[in-house]
Amino acid sequence: DDMARKFFVGGNFKANGSLKAIQTIVENLNGAKLDPNVEVVISPPSLFLLTTAEKVDSKIKVAAQNVFDKPDGAWTGELTVKMLTEHGIEWVILGHSERRTIFKESSEFVADKTKAALDSGLNVILCIGETLEEREAGKTIDVCCGQLKAVVDKISTADWSKVVIAYEPVWAIGTGKVATTEQAQEAHGSLREWLAKSVSPEVAQATRILYGGSVNEKNCKDLATQPDIDGFLVGGASLKPASSVTITVGM
Ligand code: PGA
Repeated sequence: DDMARKFFVGGNFKANGSLKAIQTIVENLNGAKLDPNVEVVISPPSLFLLTTAEKVDSKIKVAAQNVFDKPDGAWTGELTVKMLTEHGIEWVILGHSERRTIFKESSEFVADKTKAALDSGLNVILCIGETLEEREAGKTIDVCCGQLKAVVDKISTADWSKVVIAYEPVWAIGTGKVATTEQAQEAHGSLREWLAKSVSPEVAQATRILYGGSVNEKNCKDLATQPDIDGFLVGGASLKPASSVTITVGM
């Protein structure tokens, strides 16, 4: 990881965790000695966003797992950006592969939501990643850059200061099959090169690119040494009460 890019660890709880379990995670994080050079963001299910934002130490930020791109209104089942910004939720995860696959979100829709979130001052963890089939067909970079291109087309160069990219190969998410350090570094390096060409060299240099997919307290250290890996988006392991990845990389 590059020292100029602040290391970032996000915990994506997905649709897991009771109020009690989340309170325990929050208490553990509040009591943990976290490295001030690591930015930590946790993302509980929407039902628990408010209480998490109220209870968690202010050095730890909170992310919604999704947001809608329109103002408050008749959108049954959705959260609007204003609801988040008014209540101290500073981040949102967008484009997670589970949203793209299970809920059929297109790259254009993800880009519209990214734009709406950035326009109201939210920070975005923008997730991209290829399936196993796409990787085996040699399309990893094409697929990921296609997902990024939809966003590049809609946001300004300045907007990128509020975006963190999470490269999450779909085959690695929740499978226990973490990408090798070489596979991850290769993808991150190519994504950064693409950003330099498609946005600007400055944005490419400054933008954090996280790795996600079966990260745990054992494999995170090696991945963290790679020059283009600037942090992690952690699913399963972020639910462990000890928040082990956050604490391991922070040491
Ligand atoms: P995982 O999930 O760590 O459980 O593989 C990562 C993610 O989906 O963000």
